[in-house]
Amino acid sequence: MTATEPRHTTTDGGAPVASDEHSLTLGADGPILLQDHYLIEQMAQFNRERIPERQPHAKGGGAFGYFETTEDVSRFTRAALYQPGVKVDTLIRFSTVAGERGSPDTWRDPRGFSLKHYTSEGNYDMVGNNVPIFFIRDPLKFQHFIRSQKRRAGNNLRDHDMQWDFWTLSPESAHMLSWLMGDRGIPKTWRHMNGYSSHTYMWVNAQGEKFWVKYHYKTDQGIEFLEQADADRIAGEDGDAHQRDLYDTIEAGDFPSWTLYVQVMPFEDAKTYRFNPFDLTKTWPHGDYPLIKVGKLTLNRNVTDYHTEMEQAAFEPNNLVPGIGLSPDKMLIGRGFAYSDAHRARLGVNYKQIPVNRPIVPVHSYSKDGAMRVDNVSDPVYAPNSYGGPHADPSRTDESGLWYADGEMVRSAYTLRAEDDDWGQAATMVREVLDAAARDRLVENVVGHLKDGVTEPVLVRAFEYWRNIDKEIGDKIEAGVRA
Ligand code: NDP
Repeated sequence: MTATEPRHTTTDGGAPVASDEHSLTLGADGPILLQDHYLIEQMAQFNRERIPERQPHAKGGGAFGYFETTEDVSRFTRAALYQPGVKVDTLIRFSTVAGERGSPDTWRDPRGFSLKHYTSEGNYDMVGNNVPIFFIRDPLKFQHFIRSQKRRAGNNLRDHDMQWDFWTLSPESAHMLSWLMGDRGIPKTWRHMNGYSSHTYMWVNAQGEKFWVKYHYKTDQGIEFLEQADADRIAGEDGDAHQRDLYDTIEAGDFPSWTLYVQVMPFEDAKTYRFNPFDLTKTWPHGDYPLIKVGKLTLNRNVTDYHTEMEQAAFEPNNLVPGIGLSPDKMLIGRGFAYSDAHRARLGVNYKQIPVNRPIVPVHSYSKDGAMRVDNVSDPVYAPNSYGGPHADPSRTDESGLWYADGEMVRSAYTLRAEDDDWGQAATMVREVLDAAARDRLVENVVGHLKDGVTEPVLVRAFEYWRNIDKEIGDKIEAGVRA
């Protein structure tokens, strides 16, 4: 920070303070006096500096920039930000998932890839990851999954035994694990990885036609990764390596960028496609739904106050704009509740008034009061009213007829279709996407992970799990662990 003119220290109330160094005492050697308001304010404020960290995705960082729509995708969506030539200010936050706020950036983990676009129709958040799939497909399992990745109750240690216990009892995790244990499980930097919506969203065009869409943000820096030994070394040398890399690169004027592509599935295809296209553990083959270019995301400005602009940044899949909607992906609908609820718990019910979370358009909601409310509310405070208060205009939304569903109330997995198995896409990944050297590194990574505290009954299930993906890989993993 550079001060342009001398400034005198004040209390938080703005009054000048007498000293930055000496408490008020009764004589130079006497006791401290309670009327030293500034001392007490400093101590009290300090004691309250930390807010609860995110659970999960606690460790992260990011930057500001812009998204520019370079192509014409108006045939798929009427969203203002995706019309040709439109450029919107954007905030991004990258993160790891399981570690705490001070944990190393280079631990093997998926990375969060969360965007907040400040659009002319309100904030649009795309809360993605650097991987196009996920470990589970029902939000009821999410809490359990995250607990298995964090710390045990007794010894407060992370524990590979409970991780593999959960994974091997949840075979839908196979595709994600094939990805996580491979090269992309530890990106070289945040700049050298892709981002994906992972979920399917709905796009609606100006004529009201609906499409299912998956987002792919491809890094323009190229994909690069760290091998396990290098990641372990860096974790010890510089736990904040990814944060530092992004900050330093942007400070140096070298602005990282990603090109956004979408896969678009016609609305009717979803009903008959060979697997459930809303299943978060699956990708849509590029051969069936090729990538269509949309535009470019560029990061060009570091935050100036990490706490107010990053720690208090609140991303949520519910921040949607006209022309973009959710899909029947159960995980996405679960996240719709969970994210905003987490923000209310961490930041307070008025978290959308924190400057980084504010839309650039006027807000005319009927929300009022609550802790830390700073915007004035005026009458009338209810709707409907005859006193000129805001009223909803349904023509500005896409809510009617987004999709049709019918059926009994049940607790059930998705209805199985011809290719709805847990192992097939994982097998394609390890056999057809990875080359021999990458397969060897995958085996080595899994062996190292399993050798670190996984107990016998879980180990046996882990070998079977990998054999279900690929017999040879499963055999090699067992041989490696038993060696
Ligand atoms: P493609 O051959 O068209 O796509 C394979 C994709 O795999 C590539 O485009 C690349 O995605 C990704 N990839 C390359 N190397 C790795 C790696 N080491 N770890 C993880 N991903 C990698 O085939 P399909 O579309 O038919 O997909 C085949 C398999 O590829 C899927 O079962 C899935 O496991 C995986 N995959 C598919 C993606 C998709 O959306 N279709 C996306 C990512 C992976 P990218 O170009 O995004 O970097």
